[in-house]
Amino acid sequence: LKDEVDRMERLSLVGQMAASITHEIRNPMAVIRGFIQLLNERSPSEQQSYFRIVLDELDRANSIINDFLSLAQNRIVEKEPSDLNRLLNDLLPLIWADANMRGQIVDLRLDESVDLIPMNSKEMKQLVLNLSRNGMEAMKDKGVLRLETFNLQDAVQLRVSDTGTGIPQEKLERLFEPFFTTKTNGTGLGLALCLSIVERHNGKIQVESTVGKGTTFIVSFDKPGLTTV
Ligand code: ADP
Ligand code: MG
Repeated sequence: LKDEVDRMERLSLVGQMAASITHEIRNPMAVIRGFIQLLNERSPSEQQSYFRIVLDELDRANSIINDFLSLAQNRIVEKEPSDLNRLLNDLLPLIWADANMRGQIVDLRLDESVDLIPMNSKEMKQLVLNLSRNGMEAMKDKGVLRLETFNLQDAVQLRVSDTGTGIPQEKLERLFEPFFTTKTNGTGLGLALCLSIVERHNGKIQVESTVGKGTTFIVSFDKPGLTTV
């Protein structure tokens, strides 16, 4: 029953989000407008930094729209039995490049025995990238982002850990709320999207975090049921 109530609440949240998104998109637009107005009167070096801000804000508006759409569609996705390790290997260059720019390390630890699970690879990539990016954003340089897989009895598990700031108790409960963010340029949609992706994959997502030490997101995907008599 609690699951049902949670689900209803989230559905009505998606409705509220339609209102919030208008607000969220107006922020970057206001910033862009302001800076473009100022451009004329500024020196070339100032113009340079204004261009950067304008581009960043455009990107931000774009990610809000993209994340929001993926979240609101809540569509039925096509899944096929896939290898989580392979997906992580495919994403590694992308994640590594990002970490490298931040002076961070990526530690990939794959359990070679993981069973195939039904996945929509586009969504799963988005899940891994969102969790990885959050991990990196929570760390300074020299931080370590660890991606691990485990083949459990009934589930295949993905763990994304960072050695970052950690998350205080009172924020833990709000992490998956749409638009909850503690970042100046965050959308607050990353984890809401992760949750909806995990649910569409018959999975569960858990968080373990210690302030000052780091955070681990644990995603468990049920193995397709063997019919028991
Ligand atoms: P955004 O990244 O745009 O802020 P998310 O939904 O991805 O939105 O994350 C929501 C919030 O959860 C973040 O602003 C941050 O406060 C917190 N958070 C998520 N992942 C981590 C992490 N690995 N370490 C610390 N805080 C995190
Ligand atoms: Mg995020």
